[in-house]
Amino acid sequence: MRVAHGRIRVVTNERFETLDITGRVQGWLESINGRSGIVTVYVPHTTATIAVNEAEPGLLNDIVDLLKQLTMPGSTRWKHNRIDNNAHAHLSNILVGHSAVIPVMDGRLVLGTWQRIIFIEMDGPRNRSVHLTFIGE
Ligand code: ZN
Repeated sequence: MRVAHGRIRVVTNERFETLDITGRVQGWLESINGRSGIVTVYVPHTTATIAVNEAEPGLLNDIVDLLKQLTMPGSTRWKHNRIDNNAHAHLSNILVGHSAVIPVMDGRLVLGTWQRIIFIEMDGPRNRSVHLTFIGE
């Protein structure tokens, strides 16, 4: 068994944005020749999130729309907005999560037909990192 670490840089251009990073994660897996095990995809941020779901453009809009409805950007209800005005982004991170664990078989991410790894920016534009860890052989 071995462990490998990597990092993907993600540049976002909008306050709210979704990016399909599946190809970059698969590419990294191939670059380290990970064949069998798991990959963790981890966002070291408190105002962006990682989801595994379908990357259909309408749905990506719906995801951001739902998060906005739930977390109410700019709302005076949130105490954090008094100092940082991005409580909605922190709360989205709490709701969606900051990581994913994906099985690897035969050198491929094990994803269902419609599953993609989606980076969700909730307080851009920013330079972001996504940390990857492979555990396996
Ligand atoms: Zn904040």
